[in-house]
Amino acid sequence: MQSYVVIKCPKCKGFLIAETNQKTKICPYCGVRITVNKAEKLAYADNVNEALTILKFLKMKRAEEKRQSH
Ligand SMILES: [Zn+2]
Repeated sequence: MQSYVVIKCPKCKGFLIAETNQKTKICPYCGVRITVNKAEKLAYADNVNEALTILKFLKMKRAEEKRQSH
């Protein structure tokens, strides 16, 4: 079964989903090619829905942190 990993773009720090067997991934935010193995891994998921839920949670958490820092 295909599993997924949530990684952080080293350039723009955006969160994105990659398949665990994928070598590289283009960042949807800044267009940089990310080497999945070398990227910072934030979470693993068994399916794409779970990965999307984690992604949503991470984005929400980041927005929350931004609000608190002001
Ligand atoms: Zn990026």
